[in-house]
Amino acid sequence: MERCAAGKARKRLGSLWTAPGRDNDEMRRLRVAPLDTTRGGWSLFQLQYRTGSTGSAFRVSVGRMNQSLADRGNVMLRTIASVMLLCCSANAFGQQPAEYRSKNFLMRTDLSKDQATALLEKLETMLGLISKYWAVPNRQRLECYVVADLKNWPANSIDPRALESLQAKSGVTLAGAKRLRNQTVVRAISYSTAHKTIAQHEAVHAYCYTAFGTCGPQWYAEGMAEMGAMWIEGETRVTAPRYRTEFLRRSERKSIKDITQGQTGKIGSWRTYSWRWALCHLLANNKNYAQRFRPLGMALLTRKRDSFGNTYGKYLKEMEFEYNFFLDRIQPGFDVAACSWDWNTRFRKLKPGKVNKSIVRANLGFQATGVEVVAGETYKIATDGKWRVEKDGAQLTATGDKTSKRGVLEAVTLSKYQLSKPFEPPASGTFTAKESGDLYFRCRDSWGNITDNEGQIIVSVSPNTAD
Ligand SMILES: [Zn+2]
Repeated sequence: MERCAAGKARKRLGSLWTAPGRDNDEMRRLRVAPLDTTRGGWSLFQLQYRTGSTGSAFRVSVGRMNQSLADRGNVMLRTIASVMLLCCSANAFGQQPAEYRSKNFLMRTDLSKDQATALLEKLETMLGLISKYWAVPNRQRLECYVVADLKNWPANSIDPRALESLQAKSGVTLAGAKRLRNQTVVRAISYSTAHKTIAQHEAVHAYCYTAFGTCGPQWYAEGMAEMGAMWIEGETRVTAPRYRTEFLRRSERKSIKDITQGQTGKIGSWRTYSWRWALCHLLANNKNYAQRFRPLGMALLTRKRDSFGNTYGKYLKEMEFEYNFFLDRIQPGFDVAACSWDWNTRFRKLKPGKVNKSIVRANLGFQATGVEVVAGETYKIATDGKWRVEKDGAQLTATGDKTSKRGVLEAVTLSKYQLSKPFEPPASGTFTAKESGDLYFRCRDSWGNITDNEGQIIVSVSPNTAD
């Protein structure tokens, strides 16, 4: 068992260290990326590969060497290390560094004992969630340095490769592999400033390195590290802070292609990370894509043959629509799962005399009716039922709350992946379709606030033919 696992790890590391020229070019570019410390979030990302005393020639040939080394099984591989650097701003505290342990972490920090204990608890919770998600237990205690103020640390107490980023109020994860006898041992040490959720973000990288030998492509590595840092079990709502959701909603949109191909802006900027997080959050939680996202991630981490295009190529139009729908409305509390689009219901034009009934639940996004409306045609509508737009709130009909307009029955039509402007059909009466398309209803409420809604309304739609 051990040999088998070691062999797999060796294979993965072989390909990790022999990344093609394009990746190495990118890494060189990343190393000179200027700092952006204008905002409190992520401000720099750097990625380097380092080689041992055998130098860069060793790096490009290790993939081929590994097999023969494995066959001989008696050669020690020299150190190979990769370096991931992440930066952020930090607050200073004042405390001599001390060591704290939990089941999965060894933390050296100048935070107070209470702060360190609280952070270890958060890290353990997060590690439990991510290792459950990837279904690979953490294999070794992860070392992490959490720095409140570098002045508190004696000279030589921190790896010099981490100093630059820590001095710039940033973070770094160093990961290396050693071949000892017949086993490849991966070790990861993370260094982070004691600010926001950087220690959690770095810990995701450290876990991925030790569990898989890689963190996957950057969009996935950073998107998932951001997800890990904000993860709450069973939570499909957006937990990102408002400054990030405002940025994503208001700024010039990056496409899915931009994100997966690394064209999301300045390397290391929290803005860049926000795009990656947004895509990962959508794919991990939207009911149309979640089931395929985990296997895709596993394939990326274990270097099996799979890609974003292979997994989602057939669904790209739907995904682009939902991605834009999500980002047009993103705010803390937006529930990606509840707002998953229904692509399965078949829509038809109503024949004379036909009445279409559909259930509209208050705690979901737009819901398919199965009715295709035609611009200029008039339809009869009737509603039955009540809902609430907050827990234990007032019961409302489809006319909603007259003051706040919450709880109103809201309609849109969808045609060729384009949504109409929302409109309010009457609770009872007739409405004329302004645009042709598939008809969807929802209970109007703030997009960040629908999950506590209760109740449902049955909506009947029929052609307004002369009786
Ligand atoms: Zn990262």
